[in-house]
Amino acid sequence: MLTPAVSDDLSKFVRLEAAGKADGCPAASAGRGLFGLDAEALAARMVEVGEPAWRSRQLAEALYRQRVTEMDAITTLPKALRQRLVSEGWLVGRPQITQVFQSVDGTERYLVQSQGLSGAETVETVWMPEGDDGETGDGSDQDAAEEAAKRHRHATICISSQVGCAVNCRFCLTAKLGLQRNLTAGEIAGQVVAVFSRHAVEVGRDRVNLVFMGMGEPFLNYDNFMGAVRLLVREVGLSPQRMTVSTSGIVPGIERVAAEPLEFRPKLAISLNAPNDQIRSEIMPINRKWPIQSVIEAVRRVKLRPRERITFEYVLLGGVTDRLKDAAEVARLIRRTGLPAKVNLIAWNPGPGIEYSTPQSEAVEAFRRTLIDAGIPAYLRKPRGRDIYAACGQLKRTVEG
Ligand code: SAH
Ligand code: SF4
Repeated sequence: MLTPAVSDDLSKFVRLEAAGKADGCPAASAGRGLFGLDAEALAARMVEVGEPAWRSRQLAEALYRQRVTEMDAITTLPKALRQRLVSEGWLVGRPQITQVFQSVDGTERYLVQSQGLSGAETVETVWMPEGDDGETGDGSDQDAAEEAAKRHRHATICISSQVGCAVNCRFCLTAKLGLQRNLTAGEIAGQVVAVFSRHAVEVGRDRVNLVFMGMGEPFLNYDNFMGAVRLLVREVGLSPQRMTVSTSGIVPGIERVAAEPLEFRPKLAISLNAPNDQIRSEIMPINRKWPIQSVIEAVRRVKLRPRERITFEYVLLGGVTDRLKDAAEVARLIRRTGLPAKVNLIAWNPGPGIEYSTPQSEAVEAFRRTLIDAGIPAYLRKPRGRDIYAACGQLKRTVEG
């Protein structure tokens, strides 16, 4: 949901469109959505209406691969069956992009609305394009069409898991909303499918990373979050190795994700954000419940894949967490864990009513250098489309390839 102050930020973006809704809304809001159901649940629905269970494969293909938004577009189902499903109140019910804001660098921020929800309740999803593999970039005379065909796009999609958030980190804009509600698995996975559809993403060819770093704390909506991951792996065809879930340090959630089978386990990012418990508890009150060492102990239970690293996110708050002594302390803390780790540094994005300051660029660079000199890979989030993240209270610069 947008606060008026966030709307001010949006004036920096080109508002492109308010996309129409599918399924002939508003009547659609009264229906029962198919999107979000996994193959077993779809099979059960089919059996319920007297159809063979194998029709669920056709449905899953249409919903998650062909990205249909209307029942009538599921042409693999007999017309009479489609009509019957509609008359019985079924609809596709995929979340829809209702507004698009585009930054000059190609970053796009969307308001995504669940089908059947009130107009005000939207979540934010972000598309961050990256370079093309196939681009020669040297003005050579390669045929444009051939070049385009060779392109493997890189992009990152930042996904929300809740409307608002209950965690109350002092520097975060989403915290100001409080928790409004959990998203369902379909509403979480639907953000990805809606953006894939908009950008005609070809799964298997385009390299798209997903980061669960939008609004909300994924581990306080664990079942729906993991339900979305399973849908994205099984039905959409994505690899969990291209997904990163970020948590403020919800220990039971970290323990649960550590126990997930590898075929569904996303990579893990911990929002460390402070060099010690004292500062962390001030800026992230959740630290009083689960202090740094308890988070680290939970992280140790995650069986890492070869070359996999734990990401520590670190928001730099001017004068509070960005000092050289903080950097040295963070370096010691991470080295002591012995975990294969990297740090993503994020300069704090200001938000209305939040009394912190953005760090000086020299302080950011000195911080990064201190970590690198201590042997810890440290990256600075690119400033692309940064107002987008300021608006969300998020940011991203995660998966390094
Ligand atoms: N709730 C999860 C995921 C969403 S927040 C979590 O906290 O990890 C994603 C990231 O954005 C977190 O690392 C958080 O520390 C960071 N963040 C939140 N507000 C920010 C702001 N105003 N500026 C910079 N980073 C911010
Ligand atoms: Fe919630 Fe993450 Fe924001 Fe903290 S930083 S309030 S956990 S969204």
